[in-house]
Amino acid sequence: MSLNALDRQKGARELTTQAEVKKYDLFIDGEWRQPSGGETMQRLNPADQSPVATLPMATESDLDAAVGAARKAFDDGAWAASAKRRARVMLDAVARIRSEIDTLAPLLSREVGKPLAEARIEVLSMINTFEAYASMADNIRGRAISNATPSALGVVLKEPVGVAGLIIPWNWPLALLSWKLGAVLATGCTAVVKPSIHTGATTYEVARIFSEAGVPAGVINVISGRSGVIGEKLITHASIDKVSFTGSTATGRRIMELAAGNVRRITLELGGKSANVVFADADLDAAVAGAQAAVFLNCGQTCHAGTRLLLQRRIHGEFMEKLLALVDGMKVGDPLDPSTNMGPVVSEEQLRIVEGYIELGKQEGARLVKGGNRLTGAPYDKGFFIEPTVFVEVDNHMRIAQEEIFGPVLTVATFDDFNEALAIANDTAYGLAAGVWSRDLRTVMRFARGVKAGTVWVNSYHTAGIGNMPFGGYKQSGIGREQGEEGLETFLETKAVHINHG
Ligand code: NAD
Repeated sequence: MSLNALDRQKGARELTTQAEVKKYDLFIDGEWRQPSGGETMQRLNPADQSPVATLPMATESDLDAAVGAARKAFDDGAWAASAKRRARVMLDAVARIRSEIDTLAPLLSREVGKPLAEARIEVLSMINTFEAYASMADNIRGRAISNATPSALGVVLKEPVGVAGLIIPWNWPLALLSWKLGAVLATGCTAVVKPSIHTGATTYEVARIFSEAGVPAGVINVISGRSGVIGEKLITHASIDKVSFTGSTATGRRIMELAAGNVRRITLELGGKSANVVFADADLDAAVAGAQAAVFLNCGQTCHAGTRLLLQRRIHGEFMEKLLALVDGMKVGDPLDPSTNMGPVVSEEQLRIVEGYIELGKQEGARLVKGGNRLTGAPYDKGFFIEPTVFVEVDNHMRIAQEEIFGPVLTVATFDDFNEALAIANDTAYGLAAGVWSRDLRTVMRFARGVKAGTVWVNSYHTAGIGNMPFGGYKQSGIGREQGEEGLETFLETKAVHINHG
């Protein structure tokens, strides 16, 4: 789907930035509690610095209380006892989320700076994921090994892993929350959720909705605060059974170190530098629109963004002409304006990082053919806006082709044949996703089998319209999978029961 095509999905009410600025407390044991240290922080809209929400900063003792509540709710056994009840409550929450989409999507848009249409798509994607997990709750199956000997039976039981610590980044905070929390609720686990401090407000709202739908006290707890104070403690806390983390590869490494101490179960969903490969026989117009959406969705702040565009040499000229025309037509601006295609990056720090990489790309010898500048003057003055940026003549060994920029920066390189395309695609420390465009089934399947990536989109990017597929990374893009049966499995323990019945 092209970003311009997203315009057509914009059905939301037009909203102004003079929306309500709500103050949140921590959500622990089914109730709202002020942070014990009394500290709060204000989240400002990255588009114009207007206040979005006041968020609580949890202390270590708040973390202890949240983990204690989750532990009690799990050990009590009532939540894990009825899959039907869990599915019912999840579906009730889904209906409530749906009825609140016109307030949740604008709040998400203001928190992250993403265009309202993309925020609505994210809320809908969260709904789909919770629905999918609700339908799986009553279908978690063990198995019986009954034919090995007439006097014994082997029974393989699947049990909820227990109390999960869920650590979420800011870029797709609701979608990623649902990938983890959906599995937690379906399996009968309980959770302590630590959102990014940028995106606490929407996370607290979802916790409220689940509570109103009947999730018992202690099953979902949400605490926001400093990573160094509560994030690391959450990973090493004695009463936590599993940590599911999504974020950068650098933080993932740190989490592995911390988890090693008590051999904590971990799932890591980390960074990416995904290749999007276009062969000469592809439907070029579809591939051009796909290449645009692949990188500029959410202002390039997407883990599986197709940031490395690889074009077969003979289509390079025609393809780039069409792509740059599409990029020229993109409107960067106020995320709440329905005509906006791309908002700001999430923070000033992120803006500096992206600007640094653009400068680096020039120094490395890549040719800048579009964008490259911070947008200034009204209406950009107070926001962190940067132009959609395109580099061509990029060598895959350049740092801009190897490192995750996490901004609206596309690098373009060329290849001559299949083997070269696959070699460049795989020449990265990451392995999160890839795209391939061709009309030849043999080409796309050879590529899909050969590329070292957890997700491959064929003649599409970001989605081919199928939800609830397992997602996760090869190589340094992570460990484990989320969504689908594989995602559910990571919140289950397996127990083998050997029964001698004589
Ligand atoms: P980040 O690693 O800085 O932070 C992610 C989360 O971890 C936040 O909640 C943060 O507060 C917390 N955190 C940071 N340091 C911590 C520590 N030492 N201990 C415990 N928690 C800590 O990442 P970010 O900037 O919020 O998100 C962007 C990154 O996330 C990108 O690298 C992106 O590729 C990655 N990401 C991956 C996926 C995926 O599914 N693979 C999805 C989205 C984002």
